[in-house]
Amino acid sequence: MIEEQSIPSSRTDGELIRIDHITKVYQLGEVEVHALRGVSVHVSKGEFVAIMGASGSGKSTFMNILGCLDKPTKGTYDLEGINVGNLSRDELAAIRNKKIGFVFQGFNLLSRTSAIENVELPMFYSTVSNKLRRSKAIEALNKVGLGERIGHYPNQLSGGQQQRVAIARALVNDPSIILADEPTGNLDSRTSVEVMGIFQELNQNGITIILVTHEPDVAQFAKRHVLFKDGKIRSDKLNSNPKLATEVIKEMPVIDDEQVEAA
Ligand code: ADP
Ligand code: MG
Repeated sequence: MIEEQSIPSSRTDGELIRIDHITKVYQLGEVEVHALRGVSVHVSKGEFVAIMGASGSGKSTFMNILGCLDKPTKGTYDLEGINVGNLSRDELAAIRNKKIGFVFQGFNLLSRTSAIENVELPMFYSTVSNKLRRSKAIEALNKVGLGERIGHYPNQLSGGQQQRVAIARALVNDPSIILADEPTGNLDSRTSVEVMGIFQELNQNGITIILVTHEPDVAQFAKRHVLFKDGKIRSDKLNSNPKLATEVIKEMPVIDDEQVEAA
């Protein structure tokens, strides 16, 4: 039996996302793939949600719809009171650029482009002056602790540092939501906790975060757990006691690369 999710009525206050009964069917030649089979989720401002579930359960399809990169086959999606289903492609792109920051597993940085230029990219779609663009990019890089490395290229940065650049890029247009699909999937466990610490800090400052992970260790930092199974929501629960990344990191061993190489 699939549990029917119950949404506390308090969530209608400051509601950011209201998704009701969405389905997504992909047509692969003759075959229909039912990636989402009736999903309803409401998210309020300031939440930190971990989306979990086995591979193929529909997590990325759901995130693509949330991020206005794709539209549902059926059902409705309201983002800050705007019915996204009625928008044209251009309007969708505009909403995406203004309201949503994306972080991906593979960082998705431009390789021949410095950290600061990567962070400036989302601002080229707006009418921001060169000077303001630069100062906003520096501010975003400072927020993720990379203010000292703004001129570095991706191949001069560790995986964790590259993901910080990607988070700075996601932040630079002051989005209301950050969507992250397996953001720690390519990182070691200590670096994963560091990155989760950045997400927790951003969340404390009011940004809503929705993150896909299949690792329970990563999900424990989120305030709500939504579990997908076979294109449906299997459970949707508040995490009453999220762990603090800044505390967890203190208990983790520091692996010194130079010592490993010398051994
Ligand atoms: P998850 O992210 O949980 O691994 P996905 O949302 O990527 O799951 O996929 C859900 C289902 O939809 C899977 O069966 C997958 O094969 C299928 N699917 C995803 N994207 C496409 C696509 N573009 N075309 C056809 N089938 C797809
Ligand atoms: Mg996926």
